[in-house]
Amino acid sequence: MPSTLDPQLRRAIADRLRYYKDLGIYDFYQRPVPAMQRTAQSNEQTAILTLHETAQETKQLIEDSSTMPKSKATSSDPASTLRLIREDIGDCTRCRLHKQGRKQIVFGVGDPKAELMFIGEAPGADEDEQGEPFVGRAGQLLTNMIKAMGLSREEVYIANIIKCRPPGNRTPERDECETCSPFLFRQIEVIKPKVIVALGAVAAKTLLAVNASMGELRGRWYDFRNTKLAVTYHPAFLLRDPRQKKETWKDLQMVMKELGLAVPTPAAE
Ligand code: URA
Repeated sequence: MPSTLDPQLRRAIADRLRYYKDLGIYDFYQRPVPAMQRTAQSNEQTAILTLHETAQETKQLIEDSSTMPKSKATSSDPASTLRLIREDIGDCTRCRLHKQGRKQIVFGVGDPKAELMFIGEAPGADEDEQGEPFVGRAGQLLTNMIKAMGLSREEVYIANIIKCRPPGNRTPERDECETCSPFLFRQIEVIKPKVIVALGAVAAKTLLAVNASMGELRGRWYDFRNTKLAVTYHPAFLLRDPRQKKETWKDLQMVMKELGLAVPTPAAE
């Protein structure tokens, strides 16, 4: 660690790193910063980059800071912590998608304290345009599914495995999922939902690190970092094959039971 680092600055950075450690995050990305831009950055940003140069330095810093009081950055307010995560993402250039036509980062939407979280695959054209997940045709169907559960979009939290639209809505590449999903994991850690619903194979496979068909994956509970996780069909798939809506409704009823929501009796369905 540079010995010239201002003690106050060092404390601020140590606080931030300890906050990440609390969230279970030990690895950091190093953004390549052009020399000119680096000079224009604040001292803190430059110092953070320097501090992230090696994992060893980071580890030492965390150990050094273990007795320090928590800063505002460690706020227990989920809404502000989510804002902090969004700030950390910045105008992301961590994977190729930033130069393949994405208009904006689609972070996530809904109640920061939601009991139920839906996780899809990636933003499509409408989401890329509006900056909100699931607002296109598939989104309309998801909204109806949420309403059928007796909830509103505002009462749940909706996000995707990756936050940028892949060109032509292609399936996200594995490395794109691996690069982006740690931010989603942090969102989950902050929101602390009771139940996560993975929509479709990309979400299910990324969250569960398994390789199986949707038919095999759906219809049962999984554990995702101590949170119950259910897998169901992606709404875009249901638009193509509406016969599977019945199976999806079974999955959602399983979720409703878990959340203590009234499940309609067969006669009322
Ligand atoms: N499909 C997804 O997986 N996510 C969206 O946000 C929209 C469509």
